[in-house]
Formats: sequence, structure tokens, C-alpha cells
Amino acid sequence: MSVLQHFFMTKVTIQKIDFFYFCLLHLTLLLVFAVPFHWAWVALCVGSYFVRMWAITAGYHRYFSHKAYKTNRIFQFLLAWLGATAGQKGPLWWASRHRHHHKYSDEPQDVHSPKQHGLFQSHVGWVFREDTADTDEKLIPDLVKFPELRFIDRHSLLPTITYALVLYMSLGLAGLTWGYFVSTIFLYHGTYVINSLCHVWGKKRFVTGDTSRNNFWLALITLGEGWHNNHHHYQHSARQGFYWWEIDISYYILRMLSWVRLVRQLKLPPKDILEAGRRRTVSISAASASASY
Ligand SMILES: [Zn+2]
Ligand SMILES: [Zn+2]
Repeated sequence: MSVLQHFFMTKVTIQKIDFFYFCLLHLTLLLVFAVPFHWAWVALCVGSYFVRMWAITAGYHRYFSHKAYKTNRIFQFLLAWLGATAGQKGPLWWASRHRHHHKYSDEPQDVHSPKQHGLFQSHVGWVFREDTADTDEKLIPDLVKFPELRFIDRHSLLPTITYALVLYMSLGLAGLTWGYFVSTIFLYHGTYVINSLCHVWGKKRFVTGDTSRNNFWLALITLGEGWHNNHHHYQHSARQGFYWWEIDISYYILRMLSWVRLVRQLKLPPKDILEAGRRRTVSISAASASASY
């Protein structure tokens, strides 16, 4: 085994170049000391983080991976493009990996699983395993039929590089540093905590047969994805915070978009699941909870 394989605690080959670039990207954080500070740059960083986090949660996750609502083909393309600006590969790859996670949650095949592979690999290490590099088209037959989505998936660096260039050309090095580098790195880890921490830290409302948890703090920084135990129990739902006190910004924005008909047919958890959750009892037999995605 190589040094990297020891570090990743796996026998699978690690994609060294990709991992090298990922580490290099973290060094760009030092640029914040090279550009003049202003709170406006912090606001840009936060705005860039949340806009793209929404594209990941409402787009890559709830739409492409789970088909939790419907939209038209143009808005579908925009969701895919905006999601790809986060630098987390294309929507087809992301959805195929994610459906794999739900199919094998916390089993040995689940590369996201902290229970099976440790916290580091569940958080970020899995991205660099050679066996996760390809898009498994068998898991996404409903998505591969769109040539424009296949295009974004094949050229997934194009949206993120374009986004970085626009920031640099319009706002200079400080805009690129705060709006792209700092924001994108937080976005990586903000997304990855759902795979890692949301399977070890928080409360379990439903017995789902895996280690998924609900976590208020992670829900805040991920616009609602922290209600991960709810989500593992009923994956179809466009709403992951099942109750009014479970803040789910991604869902609130989807609701607003449904008022202007940009999205429609938002799926919600059935009443029996909500009732069971309120009583903190288990609704194992809910047939709808066992669907494949
Ligand atoms: Zn999970
Ligand atoms: Zn999911």
C-alpha cells in the first residue's frame, strides 16, 4: 500500500493529481492576507456560499438525486450549471454517487459511511478514490437522456472556472479570493459534513437502519440538509425539515419559486410519517419510505 492509501485507510487507488489540486486550493486561503480587507468581501463570500449551497441542496440533491419536485427543462439546466459552479463535479456524477449512498447506507459499499470507513474518508477521502471517479449511469436512467446535462457532466470544470473568471474580471483578486476561493472551500466542507458529521452527531427521530442524524446547526449552514435522519426516512420529500421548528431554507425558497411556477409538484412527507415523527415512534412499515430514490 502507498503512503496515500495508508492515510486514506483504503486499498483502493487514490487519484493523486485530483487530491494534490484539492490541497493546493486550500492554500489559496492565504490570499486573504495579500488583498485589502473589507467587510464587503466577507459579504460576497457568504452570498456566494449560500447561493451555490442552495444549488447543491435544492438542485443536485433534492431535484437531480431524488426528483422531489418538477421543473421545466431550462430551469433544470440552470440548476445543473449553478450547481457545477461549486466545483463538486457534474449533476449526473453527483446524483449517481448519492443514490448509491442511499442504496447502501452504512454498508461496506457505502464510501460515505463513517461507520465503515472512518470520518476522514466519509467526509472527503471518498471523492479521491479511483472507484468513485466514474458516473454510474445505471443509477440515473432518468437523467442521462438529457444531452445538455451530459454536456455539463463531461465538462464540469467549465461552470466553476467561468464563475471564478467572472469574479476576477469584475472584482479583481480580492473578489476572486473571497467570492471564489474562500467561499468554495467552505462550500466543499459545508456539503461534506452531511456525509460525515450528519452520520455521527445529532438526534435520531426515525429508525432508518443506518446512522443518519438530525442536527440543527448543520441544518443552518447547509440550508436544511442537516435534517438528515428525516431525509433518510423519506427521501422523496422536497422538505427535509418536517416541522415548522425545523428550519429548512432550501425548502422555503422552493416554495417561493412554486408561487411563480418555476418549480411544481413539490413532494411532502405523508401524514402518517409526520404523526409518527411527532410521537418519536417508528414508522418502519411506511411503504413510501422504501423507494429507491
Ligand atoms: Zn446520509
Ligand atoms: Zn439524499
